[in-house]
Amino acid sequence: MPLIAFLIALPLIIFGMQPEKSQCFGQTNKGALQYGDRPDFFGPNYGSYCHICVLALRTFGHAPVIRTLEAAYARLEKSHPETYFLYGEIGFPWGGRFPPHRTHRNGLSVDFMVPLKDGLILPSHMGNRFGYDVSFDDQGRMIGDEASYLYARHNKVAKIDFEATAIHLLALEAEARKRGGRIARVFFAPGLQKILRKTSQGKTLFQKIAFNKRPSWVRHDDHYHVDFSFPCTPKR
Ligand SMILES: [Zn+2]
Repeated sequence: MPLIAFLIALPLIIFGMQPEKSQCFGQTNKGALQYGDRPDFFGPNYGSYCHICVLALRTFGHAPVIRTLEAAYARLEKSHPETYFLYGEIGFPWGGRFPPHRTHRNGLSVDFMVPLKDGLILPSHMGNRFGYDVSFDDQGRMIGDEASYLYARHNKVAKIDFEATAIHLLALEAEARKRGGRIARVFFAPGLQKILRKTSQGKTLFQKIAFNKRPSWVRHDDHYHVDFSFPCTPKR
């Protein structure tokens, strides 16, 4: 336990986290970050996709983005306490190149693993690249070995909770607006967007938030990628 506490404190020690000084630079695909902050490992209704990755400093973002993420989870804890959310990769405390991602370079990009229905949680471990290798069909049903494993263990077919996804994105948008920002764009597999559009909040969601029209270079079925827009300095 002391070792874990030390590892958690390490980023604080090394980077002297001062979220009030957080500053983003440039664009999501060509930028940097100063004094980035990170969300907690977990809260009442959310957790990180991978604790080792948190310790590897892969979950740092611009402070208003991190506050937005936390406030959205707090909002959902009240309205949808039964749903558990996982956040994914965000970026390095200093921003810049963040392989294998093409963006996530200035603290404004956040990946969120899809929430699942029926109390299931997306399996995340080294063998499935911490959730990023989990696959879903165009109906939002998990496929492959992970799906078989979850079925054998819980006797439930793992499905994306599209209602929760829509509500989560609207909560992020509302909380970003409160802090002087907004969601610039969401990347999610176009086939799955069709189902998202049919949820109770679908119409509002697509009116308020822009989505990718064409498939991007990764399928975005196991996670939705959110690019936020907050005022940034053009260059460091
Ligand atoms: Zn991403």
